[in-house]
Amino acid sequence: MTTETRLRIAMQKSGRLSDDTQALLKRCGLTINVADRRLLAHVANMPIDIMRVRSSDIPGLVMDGVCDLGIVGDNTLEEASLKRKLMGDKFEYVKTTPLNFGGCRLSIAMPEEFNYSSVDDLNGLRFATTYPQLLKRWADEKGINVEFCLLKGSVEVAPRVGLADGICDLVSTGATLEANGLVEVEEVFRSKASLIQTASPLTAEKQAILDTLLPRIMGVMKAKESKYIMLHAPKDKIAQVSALMPGKETPTVLPLAGREDLVAVHVVATETFFWETMESLKALGCNSILVMPIEKMMG
Ligand code: ATP
Repeated sequence: MTTETRLRIAMQKSGRLSDDTQALLKRCGLTINVADRRLLAHVANMPIDIMRVRSSDIPGLVMDGVCDLGIVGDNTLEEASLKRKLMGDKFEYVKTTPLNFGGCRLSIAMPEEFNYSSVDDLNGLRFATTYPQLLKRWADEKGINVEFCLLKGSVEVAPRVGLADGICDLVSTGATLEANGLVEVEEVFRSKASLIQTASPLTAEKQAILDTLLPRIMGVMKAKESKYIMLHAPKDKIAQVSALMPGKETPTVLPLAGREDLVAVHVVATETFFWETMESLKALGCNSILVMPIEKMMG
């Protein structure tokens, strides 16, 4: 069980989520010794311990209360919940917040030569997967029967070697599927990384640490998704320029020395929004457009 005073967070030791998780915790101000290869690393400047484990161990560690928090993909989390529920083990946890990395989808992919037209074509087939419970739930919802063969890695080679008819695996770009002559035909589950918390209440000390950490995590995520935009706009077009940059914050409008016709406009916007509106801003006569990353945001 965890100590009464130090918050224990489980994270992936190495793999697709580990760099982003480590970067997030660092940007929240946690000093973690990356060279420290021990299972449990002490954060020097906060009463937090980081437990570095395999991704698939994280849900259980949090559900059993060995760790107070965990950062894990929703796919791993949901698979573990369904499996534990089936086995009659503890499967409760609290999703503290979704995070903005680790995006992928669990999809069914079939060999290129398979003539796919609808879900019914998959009825009775055998799939190689690391996620049998998610596959089964999806198949039940669709009203079809599927068989599975459990593989922890190299799932994509299974059809070629005759182990399965198709696969049900994680996809982000689709490049691995293409390289293995497979075509994505159905999306089973959409996933992102999440911060999860043990279902039992935290001690007052630990809750206080989480109350400090959580706004920092939200601030880092908000900053990552936002850009600080500075531009020069014709003074008589401020209303139109502002209308192109809606959001929570109203733009700051500042005079420009020696220019009666132009003003400087500063605003926080999302990058996507900015690219979508760039052409319109230029058409309104805006220039000197600067886009800057934001380090931290709060409140
Ligand atoms: P571990 O070996 O740590 O038990 P793992 O085998 O799932 O876990 P990774 O391949 O590093 O390890 O994947 C970790 C998580 O990264 C996945 O569970 C998923 O949530 C996320 N992820 C994001 N994109 C992808 C992708 N294209 N393929 C696989 N996982 C992805």
